[in-house]
Amino acid sequence: MNSNKVVTRFAPSPTGFLHLGGIRTALFSWLYARRHDGEFLLRIEDTDRERSTDAALQVILKGMNWLGLAHDRDIVYQSRRTQLYQDVIQRLLELGRAYYCFCSKEELDAMRTQALSKGEKPRYNGKYRDLGRQPVAGETPVVRFKNPLDGEVVINDSIQGRVVISNRELDDLIIARADGSPTYNLTVVVDDADMGITHVVRGDDHLNNTPRQINIFNALGFATPNYTHIPLILDPQGKKLSKRHGAASVLEYREQGYLPEALLNYLARLGWSHGDQEIFSVDELIALFDLSRVNKAAAALNPDKLAWLNQHYLRDSKAERIACLLKEKLVGLGVDVSGPPDLKEVARIQKERVKTVVEMAEQSRFFYQEFAEYEPTSAKKHLRPVALEPLRQARAALTGLETWEREALHRTVDNVAQQLGIKFGKIAQPLRVAVTGTAVSPAIDVTLELLGQARTLSRLARALAWIQRRIEAG
Ligand code: GLU
Repeated sequence: MNSNKVVTRFAPSPTGFLHLGGIRTALFSWLYARRHDGEFLLRIEDTDRERSTDAALQVILKGMNWLGLAHDRDIVYQSRRTQLYQDVIQRLLELGRAYYCFCSKEELDAMRTQALSKGEKPRYNGKYRDLGRQPVAGETPVVRFKNPLDGEVVINDSIQGRVVISNRELDDLIIARADGSPTYNLTVVVDDADMGITHVVRGDDHLNNTPRQINIFNALGFATPNYTHIPLILDPQGKKLSKRHGAASVLEYREQGYLPEALLNYLARLGWSHGDQEIFSVDELIALFDLSRVNKAAAALNPDKLAWLNQHYLRDSKAERIACLLKEKLVGLGVDVSGPPDLKEVARIQKERVKTVVEMAEQSRFFYQEFAEYEPTSAKKHLRPVALEPLRQARAALTGLETWEREALHRTVDNVAQQLGIKFGKIAQPLRVAVTGTAVSPAIDVTLELLGQARTLSRLARALAWIQRRIEAG
């Protein structure tokens, strides 16, 4: 293997659903690897057996697959590497770089209270650091890492710049719990070293773990990777992500009808820019994306921008592809899409006008299914007594129409309008409400063409009866 090869990783814990923040971290790490012809690895940090769930794991796997963030090599599951961690803990003990600590909870609490009362940061006082005491039968001590007492740790972070931490700030962290299980900072170092990770890209909430991890790397004689700590994503109000904004599972964006390329484009642009370019294909991102040009400040979500990008990618997509997505959504809504119109034709028209596939499905149901009621405001405004005659005449003209295609339909509606001396819109809008149930649809001739003659005529009859009742009701 080329020793200069870039190897990055994404290391999610399956304790919560993968959300936009996590995906952005994965994307940045993936882009870096792809750009440098390197490898992108996936490691599932599932040592916390109680909080890790299979559902969360599935969201990670499906979400990354949906977005096309393919990983190289096999997935590494931390829960399957217990022996490796035990061996490293043993090695650190043998090297004298770790030690057993027998402090009781009461002792630790007392240390804490004492430190706090002196206005200091609570830290372990190193009681067992130099005693070399070994456990006897029945004892279950934790293992602590012997953090260097002096000197400093320097992190040359691609985004945060040079970060210097004095070792005096760091105490001897626990690397193995009383039950022998390894802790996060130990497993990350073991795995990053074992997997040959050259570049760690992760959220800046991990920045305070990094000096501890670097010290463990050094103690084990491993080369440390390069670090990039990316700033958090905030909600549109600049607050921590909530379920409503961004903290929802990434798969919910698929449910809501977003396209993966729109989401990737959007996330890449969150906190990163390239001139004033907004639209980036994945290949362009691979060629242009640069970690060192990611903003240091947290980036706030902008749902309008995501919708705008999605609209762009919908327009840009082939009708066949969108038809498949539309079908999935309509079937999910209980709509039978086996009959006409051809879904591909519906998708071809609708993808020019909507922001998401969900919106597309909602606005396409009427092609396949009778609507229960007219949308009240539209009916009130457009299915008025004055529309009765135009609709009647339109129905008569459409009944006799032999070629049911858009130009002929346009001409027919236009003729009726001219004969009545009214504007095209005065008839098109009532027609639209009559056949779709709402005031929003593609151009009326296209709508009628897709809907077909039989449905158009029966819906016009329904609307005429409805207006008639309205007149009678006064
Ligand atoms: N498992 C950690 C998390 O989900 C990430 C650890 C890392 O990237 O080093 O936050």
